[in-house]
Amino acid sequence: MAGETRDGNQDLRPLQAMLDTVPDGVVIIDARGCIQAYNPACERLFGWTAAEVLGRNVKMLMPPPFREEHDGYLDHYHRTGERRIIGIGREVMGARKDGTTFPMELSVGQAEQEGAPVYVGIIRDLTERRQAETALREREARLASILETVPEAIIVIDERGAIESFSPAAERLFGYKAEEVTGRNVDMLMPSPYREQHDRYMSNYLGSGVRKIIGIGRVVSGRRSDGSVFPMELAVGEVNLAGRPMFTGFVRDLTERQATEKRMQELQSELLHVSRVSAMGQMSATLAHELNQPLTAVINYVKATGRLLERLGGQTAGGQEGGPDGAVVAKVRETMDKAASQAARAGQIIRRLRNFVEKGHPERRPESLNKVVEEASALALVGAKESNVRVRMNLLPDDPSVLIDKIQVQQVLLNLVRNAVEAMAACDRRELTIATAQDPDTAGLLRVTVSDTGPGLAPEVAAQLFQPFVTTKQKGMGLGLSICRSIIDAHGGSLWQERTSDGTAFHFTVLAVPDEGDEE
Ligand code: ADP
Repeated sequence: MAGETRDGNQDLRPLQAMLDTVPDGVVIIDARGCIQAYNPACERLFGWTAAEVLGRNVKMLMPPPFREEHDGYLDHYHRTGERRIIGIGREVMGARKDGTTFPMELSVGQAEQEGAPVYVGIIRDLTERRQAETALREREARLASILETVPEAIIVIDERGAIESFSPAAERLFGYKAEEVTGRNVDMLMPSPYREQHDRYMSNYLGSGVRKIIGIGRVVSGRRSDGSVFPMELAVGEVNLAGRPMFTGFVRDLTERQATEKRMQELQSELLHVSRVSAMGQMSATLAHELNQPLTAVINYVKATGRLLERLGGQTAGGQEGGPDGAVVAKVRETMDKAASQAARAGQIIRRLRNFVEKGHPERRPESLNKVVEEASALALVGAKESNVRVRMNLLPDDPSVLIDKIQVQQVLLNLVRNAVEAMAACDRRELTIATAQDPDTAGLLRVTVSDTGPGLAPEVAAQLFQPFVTTKQKGMGLGLSICRSIIDAHGGSLWQERTSDGTAFHFTVLAVPDEGDEE
């Protein structure tokens, strides 16, 4: 502080010491804007030394456009007394010697020196504070964008069950806006009877520490704003914020997954159905083929017997005594005729059976191969993630169309992918690739390949892989591959297996739908 010296002059030394040591910059200017004092903190801030700035206009410490405006600003203040900074303080930009700028907080006070006004500016560098604020904002934005994209809905509640925060995914899932639910009891997101039990559950937990969900996670029901109920997986964590317990719930919607599982079951039962039908078809075809031969033989024998009878009958008509009785011959002929017509009927039935089997052709339509493959693979891979299989899809970029019965070909894929996943169950490396390509051998065919890094075929199945009832699995039927082959055969393609350097590949081909522009 300034004190009085013995001769009555003000002792400025304490003031000077203060100016030299304060961390804030201090600049004193006169009414024209000329710098009268400039402390060491200012030297550090602006990069100019006191010697370089004393006596010069303060606007040198400002970047444009403030630099140009400053004279006018001082004039305006002198004429009108209207203050914009003095006594107020605000955030402005400063300019360093090297031309860079920085945010600073400037407070200006007015004093009098020898009858003339001087202005004292106190300057605080805001660079670090701004950087910290920007970093904080960025962190918040990052967190918000993570929260925005995390597929799980996140709900934070306090120890009374009141909702503290509600993520965007939670908004989408439950159909409430965060502001509609914040502060309300979380039981509003539950259907009865859980809603009524929740408060009691929470107070039980807080009293006894017995956990039913916290740290465990389980499948429960949620209730949307429209009252509809859906299955969800809930994992709850507990955090202690300044002595207050808070609970964070991670919610995953299971609607889709359950729908997928249902669709999967449907497809599976369809597969079973197709397999029965096609097994029956195979059986009928075999029967027709096998029965045809003996039946033709029977018909031939009957015809031959008829001819023999003819001859016998002629002799009888000759009136030889003691020969076969004419009436008996006629009776035998009648019986033989009946046998012949029954045999002919059996032949007709077999022809009809064959017609039926041949007509059992699939309903073929043009389909997007990629879509068919993606959909079937997705279904087949439900659960594969849990078994840690890495899946790669290598699909033709031009998404060609193929002429197929979609359901049947998807069943082929399902079977191949499932076999591959099962084959890799005991392997360390589990990689599955599903690829589509032009068939390198035949134009107009597209090739689908399912390859795995499994151990390859067991020797006992290798030789007769596509025969029915060949399996190495305890619960296997060994029907999958034989049905797959008949499905692909019926489509005019082929299905085969290949031993690869790191596992097994199954390939099949289907007919491409020619592009409109293609000249045939
Ligand atoms: P299932 O799956 O009921 O056994 P499949 O006809 O689909 O009937 O398969 C027959 C057998 O072929 C399987 O039991 C298995 O031993 C073998 N197999 C099929 N795919 C693979 C594969 N990708 N790797 C190794 N073995 C396989």
